[in-house]
This record gives sequence, C-alpha cells and structure tokens, in this order.
Amino acid sequence: MTGLNIPALKNHLTERRERLQETVKYVPDPVKLYGLLQQVDSALERIDNGSYGICNVCHDPIEEDRLLVDPLTTVCLDHLDHHQRKALEQDLEFAIKIQRNLLPENNLKVNGWEFSYNYSPAGPVSGDFCDFIKLEDGSVLFALGDVSGKGISASLMMSHLHALIRSLLSFNLPVNEIVTRANRLFCESTVSTHYATMVFGKASQTGDVEICIAGHNPPLVINNGKIASLNATGIPVGLFCHSEYELINFKLQKDDSLILYTDGLTEASFNEIEYGEERLKKQLLKSGARSTQNIINDLIDDQKSFLKDSPRFDDITISILKRI
Ligand SMILES: [Zn+2]
Repeated sequence: MTGLNIPALKNHLTERRERLQETVKYVPDPVKLYGLLQQVDSALERIDNGSYGICNVCHDPIEEDRLLVDPLTTVCLDHLDHHQRKALEQDLEFAIKIQRNLLPENNLKVNGWEFSYNYSPAGPVSGDFCDFIKLEDGSVLFALGDVSGKGISASLMMSHLHALIRSLLSFNLPVNEIVTRANRLFCESTVSTHYATMVFGKASQTGDVEICIAGHNPPLVINNGKIASLNATGIPVGLFCHSEYELINFKLQKDDSLILYTDGLTEASFNEIEYGEERLKKQLLKSGARSTQNIINDLIDDQKSFLKDSPRFDDITISILKRI
C-alpha cells in the first residue's frame, strides 16, 4: 500500500537541492557533490517531463517502495549494476539484523502470564512488529503492529515506530496516551504515505488488561471457553496527527487468553477464499488449554493446510498472552 505523491516529492527534492547547493560552499573538494547535484537535477527533470519512476534500461516502472527510500533511483531491481546490487544486499542484511534485534524473548512466563509469538516475514524483512516488556510494578506491556507497504521501507518505518513506542515508555504514561503520542510523533516524522495499525496494551498481575486498538484487525479474547473479538478504539497511527485513542478494559482468569495477529493470517487466501476470522476462532477453540507456543503452532499448521502450500505474500505475526 504505497503510493508516490509526485508534487510532494518535487518539493522535497527542490528543498534538498537548495540545501546541497548551500553545502557546496563549505566543502573543500565539492566535485562529488556536483555529481549528486546532477542526479537531483536529472530527477527533477524526469518529474517535469513525466518519465520519473521509469527504469532507464527496460522502461518498466521502478518499484515504488524503492523510490520512496531513494528518490534518485533510475533503474528497476532487475537492472541494478554490480555495485548497486552489492549495496542493496548489504542494506537488506543490515535491516534483517535490526529487525531480529528488536524482537522480544519468546515463550516467557512472567507474573501469572505466559507469552509466545511467531514472526514470519513473507520476504527477508517485515513491516510487522511485536513486543513484550516487563515493567517494574509486575505488569507487562504488549504490542503488535503492521506498517503499510512492504520491503525495506516498511521495515525501516516499523523499526522507527517500534523505537518511538519504546522511548515513550520511560514517561510512565497511560496506555492510550502512549498510542496518542506515538501517533503524533510518527505523523510528524514520516513520509505521509506510511501508516500503521497496531494493538498496544498492559496486563497486570491481577489479570486486568487494558488495551488500545489503532485500526488493527480485531484481537480475540478467550474467556471461560468462549471467544470474542475486540473492535478498534481508534484509527491507524500515522494518518492524522491529532487522534484520540480509547481504552478497553477486561479481566482474564486462569486459562483465558488474548490473541493478537496481523491480517497476513486471516487474509491469506486459496482460490480467492480467505482463511478468515471464523476459521481462526474455530481453530483456537480446538487448541483449547494447550500452551501458547502449541496454540500458535496449531494455528500455523491449520493455515498452511488451508492454503495447500500455495505461496504466501504477506507478513504474518501472531502473539498470545495467556493467564496461567
Ligand atoms: Zn529495468
């Protein structure tokens, strides 16, 4: 779900061009900068004559997520030269490492809660994120989200949003206030084409749960053997700077659980039929009182058998928090 805003891009490039020209005055050997300046001028020219975003070699459109990351790109992925390809591979390796480092420890038991997750990018990197944080007062914070778009640009935005949320934790704010501020900061700092749906919440030692759902597909609660979905309490983060987020409160008893997932799980389809929320609910009830890790494994097996091993196009993240 990307989309290039050409007038905005033009402003952006023009602004950078001015800054670059300023810099040229202060650099003792500006030859390299002239090369860059030429690239910017040529991009602006392509915008004006309508050939922007078209590969120099094959004249097919260049991948939009790559243009978003580097507006000066002039060739599609298939037509990178050796050095460009090497650089891209290194970026990708780096992005993969950053993502791996952001993931929480898996299969944890903390203060009456059991927590497991599964994080499966469709490609090398994912726009999904997932977190689980123990607080000093004995409660835990959990987050799961999905940044729009795919590839490196989505994964970088995901890292950025994740870091924003982490840095807001030190202020000891209420759950919905953290989402409100993360939204504002994310809005102010991203290219306007990126937004994210997310679930963020807190589970206390007593079994009380507070949750905030920013335009995300419905989390499920299994309470006393019955399953229910929770509706969104606000819009996705990154859409509009001033959004309010409501809280949902409930209490979980022993063996109750909360299931969070990204739409890659339910929207994956075979012969144009989606896996869907109903089948997900049935499968969860079937897994019953198994451990969170086993419930997740059951889900993944069930989705695989539904899809009959047809290729997957979207990232999938599932996390389960269970009262033990
Ligand atoms: Zn090409």
